[in-house]
Amino acid sequence: AGPDEADEAVRGTCEDASVCKRFAVSVGYWEDPYIQCFVRQAKERKAPEINRGYYARVHGVSYLLKAFLKKTECNCQIVNLGAGMDTLFWRLKDENLLPRKYFEVDFPMIVARKIHNIKSKPPLSKPIIESHSGDSLLIDSHSLDSSRYSIVGADLRFSSDLEEKLKKHNLDIHLPTLLIAECVLVYMTPQQSANLLKWAASTFPVAMFINYEQVNMTDRFGQIMIENLQRRQCNLAGVEVCRSLEAQRERLLLNGWENAHAIDMMKVYSFLPQADVKRIEELEFLDEKELFEQLMQHYCICWASKDSSNLGLADITF
Ligand code: SAM
Repeated sequence: AGPDEADEAVRGTCEDASVCKRFAVSVGYWEDPYIQCFVRQAKERKAPEINRGYYARVHGVSYLLKAFLKKTECNCQIVNLGAGMDTLFWRLKDENLLPRKYFEVDFPMIVARKIHNIKSKPPLSKPIIESHSGDSLLIDSHSLDSSRYSIVGADLRFSSDLEEKLKKHNLDIHLPTLLIAECVLVYMTPQQSANLLKWAASTFPVAMFINYEQVNMTDRFGQIMIENLQRRQCNLAGVEVCRSLEAQRERLLLNGWENAHAIDMMKVYSFLPQADVKRIEELEFLDEKELFEQLMQHYCICWASKDSSNLGLADITF
């Protein structure tokens, strides 16, 4: 695949992620009244292993994110990198947990689609309008800027363009900032993701980075996962960083971050509130426990912080 086809395939992954999330929500794994505004219902059922995997992904990221919101008392910003059709802004608003400002970034083509959905669906537009104050809300086909929610079309491989666009939307580098990359870095070369991490670490004096992606990809199971993605023309340019938890942690430490952690999703799953885990385990019968465990050992959550204000970000853990 040429570079344009490869980017197109990467954009396709955004649809995949949301379709799987919508399916898991429809079975009852967690609540998200907004996801249905962004994607169709899946044509076929997704396997229980997949649904549980998405449950752990959504809850694992949300666990760390809420710890960050608590430490900063929501006096912070969130920058969701490669956000796709993520609904976090709307869910946080419902829980009264909005940061001072919530930013999303994705390819302009994805952003245009998201803005189209926001404009045409009141459940999405109302919360943005309600939380807006001051001057008129800025909206065109490729960007939207309100007081609490902003979305910009940019290529994450070009950090100066990214920074310029975010600053136009009033990004405040002095506010504690949480950056999230959920299944995004693997589509960039190690050099490109290193640049992005370095940019973030050097731009924000008080910040945390959460990265969710593949790990342990060098074994047989990992190789099969790679082949499956490659068959769909997806360029996993960054997969070599996904060789081990240690490589994931090292990338964060080498690019300006402190206190880096990396744990696989089986561990994350065991740390999630067990009463809710018990509830979801009763939703669907899981035949192949071993397959589930293998799948979970091939994804991880990594997080790191830098904390010149001593907010206690280094203490955040499961
Ligand atoms: N984070 C969302 C989630 O977990 O539901 C979407 C994940 S999807 C697998 C990857 C997303 O990253 C896609 O929306 C894709 O367009 C975006 N992405 C990948 N590389 C990018 C780049 N270089 N610049 C901007 N967005 C990118």
